Amino acid sequence: MHDLKAVSSLFDLRGDFVQGYSYGSGHINDTYCVWVDQAGLRIRYILQRVNHNVFRQPIPLMENVKRVTDHALKRLKEENCPEAYRRTLTLVPAVDGKPYALDADGNCWRVYPFIERARTYDQIETTKQCVEAARAFGDFQKLTADLPGEPLFETIPNFHNTTSRLAALKDAIQADPLGRVKEVQKEIDWYLSREADCHLVVDYLKSGELPLRCTHNDTKLNNVMLDDVTGEGICVIDLDTTMPGSAIYDFGDMIRTATSPAAEDEKDISKVTMRMFMFEALVQGYVSSAKSFLTPLEKSLLPFSGKLLTMECGIRFLTDYLSGDVYFKIHRPEHNLDRCRTQMALVESIEAQMDEMKAVVDRY
Ligand code: ATP
Ligand code: MG
Ligand code: MG
Repeated sequence: MHDLKAVSSLFDLRGDFVQGYSYGSGHINDTYCVWVDQAGLRIRYILQRVNHNVFRQPIPLMENVKRVTDHALKRLKEENCPEAYRRTLTLVPAVDGKPYALDADGNCWRVYPFIERARTYDQIETTKQCVEAARAFGDFQKLTADLPGEPLFETIPNFHNTTSRLAALKDAIQADPLGRVKEVQKEIDWYLSREADCHLVVDYLKSGELPLRCTHNDTKLNNVMLDDVTGEGICVIDLDTTMPGSAIYDFGDMIRTATSPAAEDEKDISKVTMRMFMFEALVQGYVSSAKSFLTPLEKSLLPFSGKLLTMECGIRFLTDYLSGDVYFKIHRPEHNLDRCRTQMALVESIEAQMDEMKAVVDRY
């Protein structure tokens, strides 16, 4: 356990530390809620230790977060948004003025004001949540669309490069360190038969037909704060993977994570399906905010984006299974294989409904 009082003292919290405890259900960073007494008023902050095993270069990552949140705040203020500080994460500076602080063990810490009267949801319960989350991610892209300066630092290089993800799968097939290839030939053939799809967006980005944007890259429902009273998506959080990318990646991952009622590792794949009403909710929310900047090609690729991102994820699970389960945590021997198969089922469900999905996009 970290000494939260000592870590808090590295930041300009303008009050006395009262207490701190683990908070939320994030899987990557260590997240704490810290209460501070500011002249008799108790307020809370989110204190996070950046997971430097996943994010190898926390300092350039924090510089990304600082640039993006400063820019979003500036835009919100220009729009006279009455609650600008609830509509974007903002960083509390360290006592030395930096947007982060390093402790004696080399951990990188950051502090955000706690966004009150709102919360995240781990499970999607309603289509309204889908609409609101998608709208919030669209708003985030809109707020950061004209971020000045150099492109953002790539916190995980080639994160959504499906061409290199496929190359990594082929390497794992070649190496076959545990002799698992023979067990999963069906799955391997299934992915390799869709190779052309894997190159499509990467090629469009290379040719300039698709624009590089500032994208979030982890567009799950639990990375959006929904207002407790109105249910409105008010603020996108978890900006570690915000970097240059395609709008297709962000929307595709929403389809992957929000439209199927089954868990990512469901063993009964008959439960895995792309629910059209959830897709429509995502389109409605996203297009309502993204229509101001989406190009016709981006819009036309929205249905395909779900297939692409689901395939990418399945390729990663299969690669990890073949490599001996070295990346994703597993809780049973064939866990990664189960995950790989749910992604295949979801892709097949999307393929079967592609025409209808296109018709939905055309309506918005
Ligand atoms: P993931 O597993 O999604 O990558 P993570 O480990 O990167 O998660 P975050 O998503 O940044 O962690 O934060 C974990 C949780 O803490 C969030 O789901 C949210 O409930 C809460 N949280 C984070 N930032 C804030 C904030 N500024 N105000 C209120 N709650 C917050
Ligand atoms: Mg998160
Ligand atoms: Mg995260």
